[in-house]
Amino acid sequence: MSQNAKRLIYFAAPNTQLFSELGQQLAMFGFDFQVFDRNSALLAALHSNQVEALIIDEAGLLDTKAEQCLPLLKLLFKGPIVLASMGIEMVKQLEFLRTGVTDFISHPINLLTLIDRLDHLEEFKHIQPYKVLLLDDSDLAAKWASTALSGAGMKVKHLSDPLKIFDALDQFHPDLLLLDVYMPQCQGDEIAKLIRQRPQFDSIPIVFLSTETQRGRQLMARSMGGDDFLVKNMETEELIAAVTITAERYRTLRRWMMRDSLTGLLNHSHIIESLNREVARAHKELRPLSFAMVDIDHFKRINDLFGHSAGDRVIKSLSRLLKQSIPNPDAVGRYGGEEFALIWSDQPQLRAAQRTDELRSRFNELSHANNDGHFVATFSAGVAQLEAGMSAQDLIDAADQALYQAKAAGRNEVGLASRRKA
Ligand code: GH3
Ligand code: MG
Ligand code: MG
Repeated sequence: MSQNAKRLIYFAAPNTQLFSELGQQLAMFGFDFQVFDRNSALLAALHSNQVEALIIDEAGLLDTKAEQCLPLLKLLFKGPIVLASMGIEMVKQLEFLRTGVTDFISHPINLLTLIDRLDHLEEFKHIQPYKVLLLDDSDLAAKWASTALSGAGMKVKHLSDPLKIFDALDQFHPDLLLLDVYMPQCQGDEIAKLIRQRPQFDSIPIVFLSTETQRGRQLMARSMGGDDFLVKNMETEELIAAVTITAERYRTLRRWMMRDSLTGLLNHSHIIESLNREVARAHKELRPLSFAMVDIDHFKRINDLFGHSAGDRVIKSLSRLLKQSIPNPDAVGRYGGEEFALIWSDQPQLRAAQRTDELRSRFNELSHANNDGHFVATFSAGVAQLEAGMSAQDLIDAADQALYQAKAAGRNEVGLASRRKA
């Protein structure tokens, strides 16, 4: 999603007031909105605009009940239709599902819950094709599998030399490894055993491919760290189904493992892993790389004054802003409680600092609700650029040092790590 493309949301309710305020808050997170109280106007607008989601009140519109207008809306609009209600029983929910509602949300709608939901629906629309790495010395067998899997929309990379497997895993980042059991240099189960000994590849699913059906051999391969065992002359539909199921389960699990539950951002260990990868790439390809450490100012005071859950909402708002502004999900992480890490690939320090400062100023403009009104929050950041001989940890330390200086200088600002003289 580009930084400037506004995501359009339609609201439908008998009383436009109901959603107007929510819409205005949504606008601060890069959404555009329109509220309709008449079905005729809604139908006309759906025709002419690119709408991401439609949120309809259970009371329907001024001129139509929800149950009555839903079938036609469903025909005209293929995106998600979310029903906002005070809480309805399951039988009624099932009825709504059948008339075209795809999701439910309860009144009063919490802004961040709604944004989470919209982001999730959007993510769902952009599922990346599964990436399968196929290790097989036989070109014929490889052609059979890769034709079938590519035909089903997956990205397949074929490798015939088992000794190149680690480079390929590093570079291709497959969702699944299809491993031939018999190869001239070594056995598939030996390879699996070696892969399982490296923590970074420990969880990648391995599916063995073999021409034989011998049960003992299959069990042995599974015990070496394989997840499934397929026979090479099976139906291609079966191959596609087995690979899809395993890859999908792995992606879901990996998401839970890698992402922080409050914010959905990369967690501490995975943002560091991502930084390590980028540092290696920048050194190898002689590209610039900068790193920013971001820390919310006086966050303890926010918790003390407005409560811990208001604090959580501030963290979520900042995460949302970061996610929305930095489209690469591997470039933003929750480093710790109220600390965030940003990887600015290909950006020299000044450019990275400028972009971090834009985020600082936008965060400062958000207003956070508490019981008696609204408050604002700020963050400080430190930005460092990778130089020859620096490790990921050196880069983190340099950014941390610059952050410390920004705090000391009064907060709500971006500090620059000093560069070594060339
Ligand atoms: P500074 O401007 O110097 O960064 O001050 P600060 O108060 O932000 O920094 P400090 O490190 O003293 O306090 C951070 C606080 O953040 C302490 C901790 O209770 C709170 N915190 C950490 N994680 C969470 C969280 O997930 N939710 C909430 N609500 N608070 C958190
Ligand atoms: Mg801190
Ligand atoms: Mg802080």
